[in-house]
Amino acid sequence: MSSEDRRAELAARLAKVRARIVAACEDAGRSRQEITLIAVTKTFPASDVAALARLGVRDVGENRDQEAALKAVAVAASGVDVRWHFVGQLQSNKCRSVATYADMVHSVDRLSLVTALDKAAARRGRPLDVLVQACLDPDDGPKRGGLPVPELPSLAAEVAARDGLRLVGVMAVAPLGADPAPAYRRLAEASGRLRETYPEAAVVSAGMTGDFEIAIRHGATHLRIGSALLGGRPPLG
Ligand SMILES: *Cc1c(COP(=O)(O)O)cnc(C)c1O
Repeated sequence: MSSEDRRAELAARLAKVRARIVAACEDAGRSRQEITLIAVTKTFPASDVAALARLGVRDVGENRDQEAALKAVAVAASGVDVRWHFVGQLQSNKCRSVATYADMVHSVDRLSLVTALDKAAARRGRPLDVLVQACLDPDDGPKRGGLPVPELPSLAAEVAARDGLRLVGVMAVAPLGADPAPAYRRLAEASGRLRETYPEAAVVSAGMTGDFEIAIRHGATHLRIGSALLGGRPPLG
């Protein structure tokens, strides 16, 4: 596909996603201004990030450090400025690299990551925005990161206590094969409780291609949308 055809495809997909966001906000009685669309560009090239940025998408998500680090360099070299969100499961030994390009890390779910990210943020000399990730899977379900909702406040307190980190909210992935609505309702409740102590921690990162309208209904502020914007990924992408 020529780059012009790809640009047209991305523009058409983006227009559809934006229209669905507007409709979902209307249904939920919310303002479109409350919602940030993050394009999750994993497996797709830097040229797609640049094309989306030129169409007005300023927030980009990635889930693997090695891929994200290379892409961030390539995108910057093309003269395009975007905010990078790290949304995937993270290991402590990747934190130093992630902090070189990420503006927000969504997937903080244990103390070792808090410590490593704080150190990495100090090294780069600029605070890092952090979300604590909740696990909304039923107890016997598959685990895709996150810690149980009752344990969020203590991890949030650790983030808030670090000079290099800013606690900005919560994140979750909907449980596989279960109704996302009750899960997102629990996330909204957890977010409300957290904001009683940390009023600035207002981000609720929830909602993907398959369920973002439901996430908007339940208070999501940051949508992480991949395939609806970019097309299908190869398996294991
Ligand atoms: C891949 C990914 C997404 C986007 O998924 P789609 O279903 O393609 O929209 C969102 N969040 C995380 C954590 C992801 O890894």
